[in-house]
Amino acid sequence: MSKIHLLDPIVANQIAAGEVVERPASVVKELVENSVDAGSARIHVEVESGIARVRVRDDGSGIEREDLPMALMRHTTSKIRRLEDLEAATTLGFRGEALAAISSVSELRLASRPSEAPVGHQIWVRYGDVAPVEPVAMGVGTEVEVSHIFAQHPARLKGLKTPAREFGVIQETVQQLALSQPEIQFHLIHDGRTVFQTAGRGHRPEAIMAVFGRDVASQLLPIDYETESGIRIEGFVAPAHIHRANRVGQGFYVNGRWVSHWGLRSVVEEAFRPNLPDRRYPYFWFWLTMPANELDPNAHPAKAEVRIYREQALKAVLFRLVRDALVKTSPSPRIEPNA
Ligand code: ADP
Ligand code: MG
Repeated sequence: MSKIHLLDPIVANQIAAGEVVERPASVVKELVENSVDAGSARIHVEVESGIARVRVRDDGSGIEREDLPMALMRHTTSKIRRLEDLEAATTLGFRGEALAAISSVSELRLASRPSEAPVGHQIWVRYGDVAPVEPVAMGVGTEVEVSHIFAQHPARLKGLKTPAREFGVIQETVQQLALSQPEIQFHLIHDGRTVFQTAGRGHRPEAIMAVFGRDVASQLLPIDYETESGIRIEGFVAPAHIHRANRVGQGFYVNGRWVSHWGLRSVVEEAFRPNLPDRRYPYFWFWLTMPANELDPNAHPAKAEVRIYREQALKAVLFRLVRDALVKTSPSPRIEPNA
């Protein structure tokens, strides 16, 4: 008998899920990104008891009844068709892996109603085991509910921090996604209590205020610049006397996608450094609009990192913009009348 066999699709999904679903916050990120891609104006994220249950509801395009089982399969997407589409993809998702991965390591309910449909439909998946589609009463849009994450993966479960800490990561994730899309109204609820809610009017300082409060938002220094290669840099920094013990008040959003970029972050922190106490971190947010040929959004499985081709040039510009903004606010050296 041959020793090599094809993995059962459920097992293959569960293994692949390790890349997509690292912790509950990665589930939230994938679900919210799907809601953004669906053109939603409002996204609700509800979390129960730390991480026991996560529910993301949107008012976006919805999924047709007959597409529901498809949406849960691996490598199924409505967002690209050919390799060429990848270059031009403006959606946050395109790999068609998230729902398959999440539903293979949790209990997931996907319910959806496109605007033309008189009723919604829902489908349950338990650890990759998909139940038949059934009708459900609901408003237009999509709702995904995930519970018992990693319940069948004791090793992964053990790797998680306390529920409070995991919720902290979820909160930070939703905050970043809300800032990345200020024209969408975000509402984060934890155990029935509103954690924050953005207005969704597209006004960035207003979104910053909803998340970080008036103190920070009222002192923001604006940055708006376009490089020779056509990169638009819009941002806000808080003056250096406002700082915090972690990096939660920082963000880079590239073409609408929240990204972590070690190189860009370092250069901005470097520009703040002379004005900051040790081990304190500045507040800054940058929205970069870049021509598609300036970056590779597909450099990382979770698409959390992008490769910027002319990174050095961009860093130099960022450094100068931040220095200039800060110098304008720092008190000028006193000039002695008789010196
Ligand atoms: P991807 O986002 O990479 O396409 P996913 O597994 O995250 O892959 O989702 C699969 C498909 O399910 C999407 O391409 C989309 O068509 C559909 N879908 C998922 N979530 C939503 C949603 N909130 N609203 C509308 N369609 C959705
Ligand atoms: Mg997706």
